[in-house]
Amino acid sequence: MSQKKSYKAQKVIDRMGQKLTRQIVGSLAACVHCGQCTDSCHYVLANPGDPTFAPAYKADRIRKLFKKHYDWTGKIFPKWVNAGTVNTDEDLEELKDIVFGKCTNCRRCTVNCPMGVDLATFNRMARGLLCHVGIMPEGVEYVAKEQWEIGNQMGVLKEDYIDTIEWQEEELQEEMEDPTAKIPIDKNDSDVVYVINPREIKHDPRSVLDAAKIFYAAGEDYTMPSEGWDMTNFGLFNGDDELGGAVAGRVYDKVEELNGKKLVISECGHGYRSTRCEGPNWAKKDIDFDSESSVITMLKYIKEGKIKVDKTKNPGSYTFHDSCNNARSCGLTEEPRELLRLVVEDFREMYPNRAENFCCTGGGGAMSMPEYRVSRLKSAKVKADQLTATGTKTVVTSCHNCVDGLSDLIGHYKLGMDVTQLVNLVANALVVDDIIEENRKNHPQEEEATTSAVQ
Ligand code: SF4
Ligand code: SF4
Repeated sequence: MSQKKSYKAQKVIDRMGQKLTRQIVGSLAACVHCGQCTDSCHYVLANPGDPTFAPAYKADRIRKLFKKHYDWTGKIFPKWVNAGTVNTDEDLEELKDIVFGKCTNCRRCTVNCPMGVDLATFNRMARGLLCHVGIMPEGVEYVAKEQWEIGNQMGVLKEDYIDTIEWQEEELQEEMEDPTAKIPIDKNDSDVVYVINPREIKHDPRSVLDAAKIFYAAGEDYTMPSEGWDMTNFGLFNGDDELGGAVAGRVYDKVEELNGKKLVISECGHGYRSTRCEGPNWAKKDIDFDSESSVITMLKYIKEGKIKVDKTKNPGSYTFHDSCNNARSCGLTEEPRELLRLVVEDFREMYPNRAENFCCTGGGGAMSMPEYRVSRLKSAKVKADQLTATGTKTVVTSCHNCVDGLSDLIGHYKLGMDVTQLVNLVANALVVDDIIEENRKNHPQEEEATTSAVQ
């Protein structure tokens, strides 16, 4: 006789039936347990001899539910196909520690699977099933709530967002010696609507200024929206498609309201993937404007002669870390390297790289789950070794999440490296002398006032 299930366990099983897409079923059914993906996982490399970290083992903890409740093989040969179920809330807690604590959804095992099994996709589904019944790490619950209720995942209030932009606008005017320089907010009919990660407002306003300097130097007709400006999306991490659709939908609605021609997404791997690739499906919306990563925008400005850069302004040695979402899920691998080579003198590749790069270990929302930090940093050893082998002083990445993940592991392993983003390097390499000279001609009074104040 089968054991009676807890209310939550039954709800998880029922909801799984609603979430089984063709893509997920294909991955749940296709694994032949060949083990070829095993060594591709950074958790496995950090825990040799422990089979519970192997991608196929972790996948089987989810797969057994599918086999038992939704696949004919599990109904006829349950033992052969390892069909199984969850009965209690403790079973669900155990599953939580696997899907949130032992996998960053980095998809490195996916690209190394000859059968095309995409564990990260159904790991995300399992996260969503658990979140649906309130079983998730506290940090995940908190961040998702902020994004639902306040509109961005760091709970930045609208007045603080506007204040920060105005503060950076003053800095821009000072640095460009142009009192008319603006960071426009809610300007209608702009060629570009620029959306960012709330981390830039809360912890790294310099990135807002650096982007503004580049737009200013390029003479771009752009705006930042007052609402729907958060291009990050915790729905990708917690498996909640409704949250994913609501967050991405706010961005799309605002671009349409402003009649913007193109959406430019600042440097963030999961934000780029969510806003440009997954968001239209979650939001069930057709998008009739272009969108691109700011990496591509900056590269175009240089290639089209809209901005001039001088790579000698960025001395030292640099390597590049591919964000999993940018590289493995969106194919954004060559443009960042091309841009980097244009703005630094000494670029050294890290190995392996591009789609084979290892996760910063802060992916999949891991930075919001302190309960797994010890295990995460242990798994970061492979990334630390990768970084050390480059012999560089600075690692560049196009992802705010990776900035935090890399900074944490660099501190933990005492690597003595800095982390920066392309926007910072491009802004630093800008040749602005001609622009400032032109500004001086246009605003001679301000120049006199500045000169007398210095005397
Ligand atoms: S997921 Fe793919 S590579 Fe890994 S064990 Fe299954 S079939 Fe083999
Ligand atoms: S998605 Fe990444 S972290 Fe998860 S099992 Fe695969 S390789 Fe490991």
